[in-house]
Amino acid sequence: MKIMVAVKRVIDYAVKIRVKADKSGVETQNVKMSMNPFCEIALEEALRIKEAGLASEVVAVTMGPKQSIDTLRTGLAMGADRGIHVEATGDLFPLAVAKLFKALVEIEKPGLIILGKQAIDNDCNQTGQMVAGLLGWPQGTFASKVVLDKEKQEVMVDREVDGGLETVCLNLPAVITTDLRLNQPRYATLPNIMKAKSKPVKKYTPEELNVAMKSDLEVVEVTEPPKRKAGVLVSSVDELIDKLKNEAHVI
Ligand code: AMP
Repeated sequence: MKIMVAVKRVIDYAVKIRVKADKSGVETQNVKMSMNPFCEIALEEALRIKEAGLASEVVAVTMGPKQSIDTLRTGLAMGADRGIHVEATGDLFPLAVAKLFKALVEIEKPGLIILGKQAIDNDCNQTGQMVAGLLGWPQGTFASKVVLDKEKQEVMVDREVDGGLETVCLNLPAVITTDLRLNQPRYATLPNIMKAKSKPVKKYTPEELNVAMKSDLEVVEVTEPPKRKAGVLVSSVDELIDKLKNEAHVI
């Protein structure tokens, strides 16, 4: 069984985000970019499934500009067998990405697709659900435990829900999205970074996959969150209670 893993190039989680002066988006020029942390978890899980002898191949997939190849190479250095890069510029919204995934699934025929639960740049948390919807496949989102049964061709997924954990059993092929506690992703070692350079990467354009990139979603404006006001030091519990009651009106 082949596992397809989504790896998205995003602004590194440690970078302080700057909004562009014209409020059209956030600044990405000269900013450190990395693999979306939830995608690292997705790839780690796929690699563990393969290492347990339950999958034959792990294919890392990215959609984005030329530079997304770097994210793919990181995935190959972590251990993916090969990569697919759909080169597309401009804003890539979840529905377009999901349609590209569907087109690739028709070519690659994976038994399992693993994505991050969300991309930390747009926080959409939609793509995995849309991929499953478009394919008509079962989905286990926000996974914190994945147990695959090769014989029965099913996968048990513990999902992180508000009240605790929900366990679902999915028939393969299926879509899983990863939550933070699923695993601790490995680092790429230097020899594997070298080896990754010779792993195959197939390129497509959205046109080759017959996917129109036009979106019915438009970003109207991006603004910084309001600045936090400075705090005040209170001299007693009575003063604190008075302020909570009469100024903040929270008690
Ligand atoms: P989102 O719905 O945008 O929050 O993204 C959820 C997940 O879908 C991400 O964690 C990725 O695994 C996957 N994904 C979204 N956009 C892309 C992309 N351009 N390339 C590869 N994977 C993506």
